[in-house]
Parts: sequence; C-alpha cells; structure tokens
Amino acid sequence: MKEKIMGICTPIQDLGDFQLNRLYIKRDDLIPYSFGGNKARKGKLFFDEIDQGGYDCVVTYGSSHSNHCRIIANMAAKRGMECFIISPAEVSETTFNSRFMRLFGAEVTTVPVDKVHDTIERKLQELKTQGRMPSFIPGGGHGNIGTEAYVRCYQEIKTYEQEQNIHFDYIFHASGTGTTQAGLVCGQLIEKDSRQIVGISIARKNPRGRNVVIESIREYLNDRKVVLPESLIQQKTLFIDNFTGTGYGKDSETVISTIKDAMTRYGIPLDSTYTGKAFYGMEQYLINEQIKGRNILFIHTGGTPLFFDDFMSF
Ligand SMILES: *Cc1c(COP(=O)(O)O)cnc(C)c1O
Repeated sequence: MKEKIMGICTPIQDLGDFQLNRLYIKRDDLIPYSFGGNKARKGKLFFDEIDQGGYDCVVTYGSSHSNHCRIIANMAAKRGMECFIISPAEVSETTFNSRFMRLFGAEVTTVPVDKVHDTIERKLQELKTQGRMPSFIPGGGHGNIGTEAYVRCYQEIKTYEQEQNIHFDYIFHASGTGTTQAGLVCGQLIEKDSRQIVGISIARKNPRGRNVVIESIREYLNDRKVVLPESLIQQKTLFIDNFTGTGYGKDSETVISTIKDAMTRYGIPLDSTYTGKAFYGMEQYLINEQIKGRNILFIHTGGTPLFFDDFMSF
C-alpha cells in the first residue's frame, strides 16, 4: 500500500509574547512518522521517487545521531527494502537514533570520515555488480528533492497566513546541510514575499555554510527555470554562524538551559545539536538586532530522539 503520511500540514502554535515580539512555532517535529522532523518531510519525497523507480535497496550516509538515517531506515524497512548506511567512526556512540537504525535492520558500515566517500562508491558498485538496483540518498536529504520539501513547507506557511490573516516578519530555523533553508528561501523568492528568513547555523561557518545554501538555491531555481537577480538571492540568504558551539557535537550550558526552559515553559522538546541552538540563536538575534513588535515564526525541525539523548545527562 502506498504510504499516505502527507499532504503534510503541520500545526502552527501561538507561544505568546516573546521579548516584546509574538512567537509562533511550526511543529515539523510532529509530522506523524517515526518522530517526524525535517528529514521525514524530505524522506517522503525521496521515497515517492524510489517507489516509481524500480529500486530494490537504498544507500545513504549519516552519523549515529542522524535523524535522516532513522527516517530513511524506517521508510526502507516498511517497504521490505534493505538499507545500507555508511557512518563516520568519529561519531558512532550508541544513541536513540542508532537504536532505531538497528530496530529497522539497517546495515551500518562505520569507517573513518575521510573514507566515507570511497566507501559509498564501493558499496554502490558492489550492489550493482550483484545485479541489485540501489537508490542513493544524499546525507541529510541534500539536493533538489530536499529543497522541494521545504518549498512546499513555505507554501503551507503562506496558506496559514492567508487563512489566519497574519504575517510572519521573521522565520527562524536550524540550518545544517542547507536544503531546509534553500527551500524556504526559494519559496519566498518565487512568491516575492517580503520578510526575513534567518538560518541559524548549527555547525558550518561562513562563508562556506552560506555558499552551500546559495548553491542549493541556484540549483533548484535553475531546475524550475526561474530566473532571478543574483543580488536578490544574496540579499535573502541570511546564515548566522555565531551559535555553532561544538558543531554537530554536544553543546554548552546555555543551550542546555534553553532546552530545559522550552520544555518547562511550552512543553516542547528541543535538542542540543539543532533546535536548541537555533532557539537560543533566535533569542540572541532578536536582542542584538533590537527587534520588537514583530510576528516571529520558529520552525521546529524535529529531532525528538536527540532530546532524549540530552535528557539522559540532565
Ligand atoms: C537535519 C536537521 C536540521 C538541518 O536541516 P538541513 O536541511 O540539513 O539544513 C535541522 N534540525 C534537525 C532536527 C535536523 O535533523
């Protein structure tokens, strides 16, 4: 049976006053599949393609913390497809996500990070030699399919605004490999909306982090044959790299107290790799830029199992 998770349309919740602004949160963490998150939104579109394509297994990449690998392993297992995950040895301790990968029967191959690329190539070659039809899904759900998932999310936000007669002046979210941000910005550029989308980087520094987002934007717009001035793309891509802490690793006390506070105040789980950093970064950004009297939307990109990893050491 074909999976009908979505027409995804996740709830937007009013969290009340927030540093002289009004804060709303879009709950992509509540996408009703395997603890949701942006990887579920992207994964759904990747598997729409896989279901059309005559593939018989999937190969992807991610660490033992990866939300992407949890989702892909689940979607593959559901179809009775084998899932091969190449994983960096540097980040390979047991986590809730790695337990899920095991539950779904994914085969995880752990190699030093500088061997990952070659190991993926070899795995794909080996499978093809055996007469298999592997589908390769880029780490984090990168590429135009991942971007498309967040163009559609942008459309949901826009529909909500029209229905509720509200305008979000700012949209904040955690930015990692960049397609979540690229999709949101493409959505905005296509609609010619005026607002500021702020990606809070969780690991990458500028200029590289921002350049990766911009490349994804260009790639998507080219594919859709949308021509826009380069200056506009540059102007609309705001990638803030002051809150990366230790990158994909665990984070500082400030982020941990942000997580405890959000759970207590709103009953919403954040995590120290992605959403905790982004939420803290948003707070600091609003203070530093002296933003007041605005409607602010935070996109909760998921990672509930990571909340529980953090929670074990609270
Ligand atoms: C992967 C991930 C992100 C980053 O998304 P990108 O599209 O890679 O930038 C943000 N939040 C969570 C919870 C994630 O799992």
